[in-house]
Amino acid sequence: MRAVTWQGKGRMSVEDVPDPRVREPDDIVIRVTSTGLCGSDLHLYDPLAPFMEPGDIVGHEPIGIVEEAGPAVTSLRRGDRVVVPFNVSCGRCWMCAQGLHSQCETTQNIEQGTGASLFGYSKLYGQVPGAQAEYLRVPFADTLPIRVPDGPPDDRFVFLSDVLPTAWQAVEYAALRPEDTLLVLGAGPVGDMCARIALMRGIRVFVVDPVTDRLERVSAYGAEVLVTETDADTVTTVLELTRGRGVDAVIDAVGMEAHGSPVAESMAKLVRLLPNRVAQPVMRSAGVDRLAALHLAMHAVRRGGTVSVVGVYGGPMDPMPLMEMFDKQIQLRMGQANVRRWSDDILALLLDPTDHLGVESFATHHLPLEEAPAAYRDFRDKCEGMVKVLFRP
Ligand SMILES: [Zn+2]
Ligand SMILES: [Zn+2]
Repeated sequence: MRAVTWQGKGRMSVEDVPDPRVREPDDIVIRVTSTGLCGSDLHLYDPLAPFMEPGDIVGHEPIGIVEEAGPAVTSLRRGDRVVVPFNVSCGRCWMCAQGLHSQCETTQNIEQGTGASLFGYSKLYGQVPGAQAEYLRVPFADTLPIRVPDGPPDDRFVFLSDVLPTAWQAVEYAALRPEDTLLVLGAGPVGDMCARIALMRGIRVFVVDPVTDRLERVSAYGAEVLVTETDADTVTTVLELTRGRGVDAVIDAVGMEAHGSPVAESMAKLVRLLPNRVAQPVMRSAGVDRLAALHLAMHAVRRGGTVSVVGVYGGPMDPMPLMEMFDKQIQLRMGQANVRRWSDDILALLLDPTDHLGVESFATHHLPLEEAPAAYRDFRDKCEGMVKVLFRP
């Protein structure tokens, strides 16, 4: 089959690789019909390179059709349509029972000190073959895949794999009530979807992002765009809009961004020049974190408010504004989305003929898999109008 593979620092290519097969009795293999390109894929493309091996298949946002089911699979059969969550979770362990699927104890990577395995996401997360491919092996077929009906286009359901539950969890963690105020930092796919979900719940949403066409998308759903030059301006504006208190919650949908921050950029460059053995500890201890968004979140949230971190951070959080966090009594909540905890609620919403969240027009690009290498570059460079890419293998 054809698959998008990591071939070296900053290099993805589409290669012929062996077809995946059912290995365990409760595996399925799906034929992927659409599969997303995610902001977090860019971390593999570049800063997480030390944890990749040439030939690793990337991607973790698929929808497809069951092609083959193992003999123990009872709830799915050939021809069923499924979305696969980005976390590989068993659905049966203690963590999964708590709704903490991203910490699944069956697939946790104890040696690496990380949580549940993820599809297509480096040795840190199990080195599981990814979903930007024609076929994908999916374990735990009776509990992990999300069965969706035939009929509506892939775009209706595909975001159940990551964007929707990730945004949904960020909004849940923000602990908001109707008419509360929320500041969303970053209007990439996840920040955008956070804003849409919060607006649907009657929350007043402010958004900041340097990319204009991203802001146009969220403002169409009723978010108030803050046009500010600096982070200090943003804080001043937020205070003016909230009687000097600050917003009830901030969602940081920026996270670790290696591109655009001068410090992170030079750190990423440094790491790129190091051999893997040396680069791994550097990445772990120094990180390439861009903490500006997190600092802004602390300044803009009201006393006693909540900061919900959905952008992915790697490396230590130091220096954090710990004194300010303590003094303002801020609630900080974060973590990978526990997809299966939220997916039934979200699916119910998606089955409504009214496309409340605009998922069917959410993707800005539908591309053949063969165009993946160029799409990765364009997405990294935030090429005009490129917010969300779906590949059609
Ligand atoms: Zn993703
Ligand atoms: Zn589990």
